[in-house]
Amino acid sequence: MSKVSRFVEVDDLSILQRLATAQRQIANDGGSSSNSTFSFWEKTSWYPQVARRLFHPLLLDPRNDCFVLFTVLMLFTVLPSAVWLMLDFAWWRAALHVALVIQNAGSYTSVLHNSCHKKVYSVSWMNYIVPVLLGPLFGQTWNTYYYHHIKHHHIEDNGPNDLSSTLRFRRDSIAHFAIYFLRFLLLVIIELPVYFVRRGRYWNAAASFSGEPRVRLGPRQV
Ligand SMILES: [Zn+2]
Repeated sequence: MSKVSRFVEVDDLSILQRLATAQRQIANDGGSSSNSTFSFWEKTSWYPQVARRLFHPLLLDPRNDCFVLFTVLMLFTVLPSAVWLMLDFAWWRAALHVALVIQNAGSYTSVLHNSCHKKVYSVSWMNYIVPVLLGPLFGQTWNTYYYHHIKHHHIEDNGPNDLSSTLRFRRDSIAHFAIYFLRFLLLVIIELPVYFVRRGRYWNAAASFSGEPRVRLGPRQV
């Protein structure tokens, strides 16, 4: 195992665990609006009992129970809202749905990020819920985030070969931000497979490209 991959698989996980703890601390302090979903329900008197009895038996690490809480909330709000819209569209419900997605997008990205780095559930199939079932509802195509973030971004570490590197851009320039954002939005689905092909990682190239046009089950492929 290379020095780089050891760093990603060991040290980064401890960083992520601290990040998850920090996110929960922010939520409990009522700080970030993007974590308000966590904080409201975690502060209820019955939540610790629910977490201990229902969530902890499903988890590899009981400290991640806030991930389960968030996932359950999304399964009972965003998911039925999307299904209802598909079956019976109405503009006022579409507006509420968009607001709901925006309000929870930050928390979803945090949960997706952490669960891509480390499995959350001891029950294997449950690890598919966040990337496969909830992903498209938050604009994440299947496995694209995993292959970009784990198999590429953390390897290149924002260096010159990182397709999402910020090195060449000024942080106080709207034009630079627009170029960075549009390149990522429009070209990453082509640039990422090309990146893998150039390094002989053909399986990763095929898997990352397939995340956009078709279903590929499983959040943690080779
Ligand atoms: Zn990461």
